[in-house]
Amino acid sequence: ATAETPLVVTGLRKAYGDGFVAVERVDFRVERGQVVGLLGPNGAGKTTTLRVLMGLTMPTAGEVRVFGYQLVPGSPVLSRLGALVEGPGFLPHLTGEQNLRAYWAATGRPWADARFDEALEIAGLGDSIHRRTNNYSHGMRQRLAIAQAMLGLPELLVLDEPTDGLDPPQIAEMRRVLKRYATDGRAVLVSSHLLAEVEQTCTHAVVVNKGRIVASGPVDDIVGDSPSVQLDVSDQ
Ligand code: ATP
Repeated sequence: ATAETPLVVTGLRKAYGDGFVAVERVDFRVERGQVVGLLGPNGAGKTTTLRVLMGLTMPTAGEVRVFGYQLVPGSPVLSRLGALVEGPGFLPHLTGEQNLRAYWAATGRPWADARFDEALEIAGLGDSIHRRTNNYSHGMRQRLAIAQAMLGLPELLVLDEPTDGLDPPQIAEMRRVLKRYATDGRAVLVSSHLLAEVEQTCTHAVVVNKGRIVASGPVDDIVGDSPSVQLDVSDQ
C-alpha cells in the first residue's frame, strides 16, 4: 500500500538563491480519503512546499513521492495530481464552462464528459457554469478555480488557500466539496493560514512555522493540542 500512497514528503528542504531557507526537514504524507490542511502563518513556507509538490520549483534536498514515484519536473505522475497555486484569471466574456473547456484544451489532454460532469457536480457550480464569469462573485470564482483543478478528477488534489476571502457559509460549503472529493480513493492537500478553516474543512493537519513542522495529525488532536500550536499559527 505504501507505493500507492498519494503523497509522501521526506526531509524536504528548500533554500532560495539568496540563501534563505524557506522549508527545512519537512516530512508528511497524505493518504487516500484524507483532506490534509497545511497550516501556518504567512511566510511559513506553505506555498514553497506546494510549489515543490507541483514540480514548479526544485527542492534543495529531500524527496517527494506521488503514488510511489519520485517527483521530478515534467514527471508523468503529475497527471495524477491536480493543482491550484494562484487563482487563475478567467476570460470575463466567456461562461464558466467555456473557460474550463479553454483551459482543458490548453492541457492537450482528451476531454471526458463524464469526468467533467462529476468534477462540476462535486464543485457545486450548478447553473452558474453557463453564466459569464464577469458576473461571478468572489466565492463563485474560487469555486470555478477549484472545479478547474478537479477537471480530470486527479487522484491527488492540491489547493493553495482555497478558502481565502470566503465567508463562513462558503467555507462550510468548501468543507462539503473537499470531503466529497476525497472519496473513491482520492485525497486532498490544502494550505491555509487560519486554524478555524483547517478545523472546519480538513480531516488532518500539518502545522508549519518558519519552514518547519511544529505539529501534525488528525485535526481533532491538533485543535485540542497545546495552546502554543494555536499561538504559532495565529494570523499576524
Ligand atoms: P503566504 O501565505 O504568505 O504565501 P507561505 O507560508 O506560503 O506564506 P512562502 O510563500 O512559501 O510562505 O514563503 C516562505 C518564505 O520564503 C518567505 O519568507 C518568503 O519571503 C520566502 N520566499 C518565497 N519565495 C522566495 C524566492 N523566490 N526567493 C527568496 N525567498 C523567497
